[in-house]
Amino acid sequence: MVKNFLIKYGLYIFRWQLSTPILAIVISLFPVKNEWLSATIANFIGALIFFWIDKIIFKPKYNYDLWSIKENIKCVDCGNICRGYRLVLSDKYNKINDPQPEFRCEACSQHKRNSFGQRKHYRRFL
Ligand SMILES: [Zn+2]
Repeated sequence: MVKNFLIKYGLYIFRWQLSTPILAIVISLFPVKNEWLSATIANFIGALIFFWIDKIIFKPKYNYDLWSIKENIKCVDCGNICRGYRLVLSDKYNKINDPQPEFRCEACSQHKRNSFGQRKHYRRFL
């Protein structure tokens, strides 16, 4: 936990230093003589770039699976009406905003989950 924090903190500090060249280049080359306007433009350019890098740095890692459980569903695999299970969130799998969630009975859910475990990159195909 502390190790992951220190890695993210180190990456963020390094990433923060990458904004320095953008600031320096814009201030020295941009034909605006107002330092505040130059810094604002540089920060705007940096924000366009570093938003995506920060998103990667601060992407949460999950050490558990989050499941959704719903009563009286129709299993998408076998058609049984029963309690349904759906994997919502796992390490590299995120179906929180799935517009059409698929629920499965316990047996079909376990079967699908086990079949994923046998694939090398199963989470990409979910
Ligand atoms: Zn089923």
